Amino acid sequence: MSLLKSSGERHRRPQFHPLTVAGIQRLTERAVAITFDIPEELRDTFRFEPGQHLTLRAEIDGVDVRRSYSICMSRAQAAASGQLRIASNEVDGGAMSVWLNRVVQPGDRIEVLAPLGDFTCPTVDTERELVAIAAGSGITPVISLVRTVLEEEPGSQVTLIFGNRTAETTMFRKELEWLADNCSARFDLIEVFSRATSATDPLLNGRIDGAKVRQILRRSGVAVSEVDEWFLCGPIGMVHDVRAAVVADGADPATVHHEEFFQESMPVQAPGS
Ligand SMILES: Cc1cc2nc3c(=O)[nH]c(=O)nc-3n(C[C@H](O)[C@H](O)[C@H](O)COP(=O)(O)OP(=O)(O)OC[C@H]3O[C@@H](n4cnc5c(N)ncnc54)[C@H](O)[C@@H]3O)c2cc1C
Repeated sequence: MSLLKSSGERHRRPQFHPLTVAGIQRLTERAVAITFDIPEELRDTFRFEPGQHLTLRAEIDGVDVRRSYSICMSRAQAAASGQLRIASNEVDGGAMSVWLNRVVQPGDRIEVLAPLGDFTCPTVDTERELVAIAAGSGITPVISLVRTVLEEEPGSQVTLIFGNRTAETTMFRKELEWLADNCSARFDLIEVFSRATSATDPLLNGRIDGAKVRQILRRSGVAVSEVDEWFLCGPIGMVHDVRAAVVADGADPATVHHEEFFQESMPVQAPGS
């Protein structure tokens, strides 16, 4: 029996495409957004579901490095601009995040895989209630999900609880505030700061955990058992604690989606949280 596979059976290697960096926007002292031009002939290949990520490949100090970065724009923004945007928060000693933050320039070409991932939320014709909980750079897939739902589901309600150290370390703060102002009847943005103190509202101080989420939702009038979909992204410890709390309070586990950026046994705090 031949051990050679026929061409149909052969394992297909994922194909990287060289994309040109169209622009770089500094979001915080330690984070940049990078926009890629998507040429007309690759528009179908790079069509995405909100919440999906791109895999970037680069040779950094002689090493082939591959890392994932979530698309952080809505589907409508991507279609209108012919571009895709990712954002990278600099990790101390990190190979690719340091390179993206300090070395990459507009006009550079980076090898990129087509969008992947199942931390997504197909939009629907019905009216839904969504809750997203993010910390630090965990906002990147969440801003894509939130903005796409607000743009494509005119009857849906979204609550976003977003944790950071301070206002200054918060990625996409202006954009989220703009969304909150423009969709005030449907989008509730609740910011929690771990290193700033709100004298008026202690609930919004400290790290996000299950107990805090429970209190914030109760005060906002969100009934856990009536939420249609949950999206959690941030440090592993936060994600697991919040997930356990909302499931204990009546959320259907199948509706609680989460994404982990950093997968090692030791829980880490996301930069900015
Ligand atoms: C599906 C997915 C989507 C992602 N989306 C984004 C995104 O949108 N924006 C973004 O900034 N990152 C995102 N990440 C994380 C990203 O892929 C890299 O892991 C991160 O940029 C660090 O890579 P590096 O090469 O700089 O660090 P490495 O060279 O891999 O690591 C350097 C050091 O930092 C530690 N480390 C690695 N990653 C992290 C981390 N995330 N937090 C804390 N310590 C870490 C390592 O243990 C090591 O000690 C995502 C990850 C996944 C799996």
